Amino acid sequence: MSDQFDVIVIGGGPAGYHAAIRAAQLGKKVACVDAALGKDGKPALGGTCLRVGCIPSKALLDSSRQFWNMGHLFAQHGISFEKPAIDVARMVARKDAIVKQFTGGIAALFKANKVTAYHGFGQLQPGRVVTVKQHDGTTVELKATNVILAAGSDSIELPFARFGEHIIDNVGALDLPAVPKRLGVIGAGVIGLELGSVWKRLGAEVTILEGLPDFLAAADAEVSKVAAREFKKQGLDIRLGCKVSNTEVKADGVHVSYTDAKGAAQTLVVDKLLVAVGRRAATRGLLAEGTGVTLSERGQIVVDDHCHTAAEGVWAVGDCVRGPMLAHKGFEEGIAVAELIAGLPGHVNYDTIPNVIYTEPEVAWVGRTEEQLKSEGVPYKAGSFPFAAVGRAVAMAEPAGFVKVLAHAETDRVLGMHLVGANVSELVHEGVLTMEFSGAADDLARICHAHPSLSEAVHDAAMAVHKRAIHKVN
Ligand code: NAD
Repeated sequence: MSDQFDVIVIGGGPAGYHAAIRAAQLGKKVACVDAALGKDGKPALGGTCLRVGCIPSKALLDSSRQFWNMGHLFAQHGISFEKPAIDVARMVARKDAIVKQFTGGIAALFKANKVTAYHGFGQLQPGRVVTVKQHDGTTVELKATNVILAAGSDSIELPFARFGEHIIDNVGALDLPAVPKRLGVIGAGVIGLELGSVWKRLGAEVTILEGLPDFLAAADAEVSKVAAREFKKQGLDIRLGCKVSNTEVKADGVHVSYTDAKGAAQTLVVDKLLVAVGRRAATRGLLAEGTGVTLSERGQIVVDDHCHTAAEGVWAVGDCVRGPMLAHKGFEEGIAVAELIAGLPGHVNYDTIPNVIYTEPEVAWVGRTEEQLKSEGVPYKAGSFPFAAVGRAVAMAEPAGFVKVLAHAETDRVLGMHLVGANVSELVHEGVLTMEFSGAADDLARICHAHPSLSEAVHDAAMAVHKRAIHKVN
């Protein structure tokens, strides 16, 4: 006999737990299947984001930022002290406690919303049946009117750099027992930059090898340029156009063979090597024969605009489908699908998903870049404003970076906002909101912003679109 549900969600990460809780709020009988275990060996909901992604990396980013500021910023404030020291075990334990608090929080939310959690590996069978191989060795069979696949993603492993003690992925880089003297990173993407920054701030020599010739190619070119300059100042050695061909673990460290941008053969020797070259949909073993769900060439579950797969009543959301691999994109898809199942008009606006890189300074953007607008032939006006002219930013000793607002040249509608600087992970939402409400640069310019606040950079950038910024010469 199968246990019968209205909705079964496979995956308890950001996309899955949002789907499960929203469906339960809407009166559905919901089960959520998740295989993950925490560091203590007990089931831990929340997926990559809560266990080994967004939340733990932000904990370490914050710890390492405090440490870095002691050595680099405090003297400006007239604060002096004995040499700062870092207790890595204590820093990691703090991170683990935060993870435990939040994974436990999802379990509590499931309980409060009457979502039944099954801990084990779920596989979709034909006919919207899900089998769960539970951690105690037993298998249960569940059945539902709708199944939502939210299986997430896994780190891509390079064939010549197998993960182990010295060659690590994001999970390993969150749990190093000590600061490595030399840390190599393959990939100057989001994970490489964030976790590279953590260990750099704590004292590691960090070298990042990036395959592409351009730095942060997805970001607006001016933003990438300023970010690259600031990261270089911090001592991050980012080498572009590098093709890594081999790695070898030897007594003196990991030897990384690569060809540099000029085509010359090089070897980098490091104590730890973080491989952060992207992630792929975690669909292995997820689908039994004959489910009708199809996969793309890249292994992603093929869905339509409403996240419905090729199989009736089977949906897929989050990292295992097309689109950016971002927790908040998964949140929105999970909610939208739960609402569609309940007969409500669930919807995700993919044009207003913010991107954030939690480096120092932070990088954030929403909408199209100047390069995209140019290549699409869209007439636009740009207005930008530097944090160096914002009183609050200077008072905080965080003058690096700027805000840029891009608006349609004829309608003035905001098409993009690009930011690099302190706290821009928060400020970018001014752009998200304006775009979501189809607002104009003039709307933003006429909204009263608190003084002194970092948000004044957004205000003046919006005014600069029409060459009327007050605090700079237009
Ligand atoms: P990514 O796609 O952000 O970056 C991977 C980088 O590796 C790219 O710049 C790519 O050109 C480079 N690369 C690929 N193959 C290479 C090779 N053989 N040699 C050298 N360079 C190579 O991927 P990521 O940093 O691994 O992150 C994975 C996913 O997780 C991303 O989709 C990211 O958006 C998401 N994530 C997001 C956040 C955030 O939003 N702050 C944080 C962490 C991870």
